[in-house]
Amino acid sequence: MPELNPRVAVYTGTFDPVHLGHLDIIERGSRLYDRLIVGVGINPDKATLFSIDERVDLLEEVARPFGNVEVRKFEGLAVQFVRGAGAGVMLRGLRTLSDMEYEFTMSLMNLNLDPGIETVFLMAKEEYSHVSSSLLRQIAALGGDLSKFLPDPVKGPLVERARRPT
Ligand code: ADP
Repeated sequence: MPELNPRVAVYTGTFDPVHLGHLDIIERGSRLYDRLIVGVGINPDKATLFSIDERVDLLEEVARPFGNVEVRKFEGLAVQFVRGAGAGVMLRGLRTLSDMEYEFTMSLMNLNLDPGIETVFLMAKEEYSHVSSSLLRQIAALGGDLSKFLPDPVKGPLVERARRPT
């Protein structure tokens, strides 16, 4: 099997849409690794508020200040995407105890699927530890103020999209 670079990390998620909790992990990951690839998952079975291209565009815009961060879309198993990118690390954010249980199971499964890839966890910043895209989508639909949790380029699109009947 080809060598994986332990100085390159991949951070995967749905990012529907990207919020400041995600961006904090991206910023810290970009400082920890030589290169960080943000993998935006395409899941044909899961309905998302933003299309894959919209999620990628928003991420590219907010990650632009970090010169070593690249955004890519991917379909299928995350470990296959990570290996295809030549990265040795899968970066994850941990918010709550309930995240811990899910992430622990996933990291064990991923280690079984590809023992060459290590999962590294970063604890969420306190102020974002309760923030999730799904909660933000719900609050946006009800007209709540989300400015504390969203990067500027995401604010308008989320308010506009969440209010539109699907
Ligand atoms: P969400 O749960 O917000 O829909 P994703 O499925 O896109 O997020 O999650 C991608 C990654 O980002 C996961 O590792 C998840 O644990 C992490 N993450 C999500 N929200 C936060 C947050 N508020 N702070 C830190 N990490 C987070």
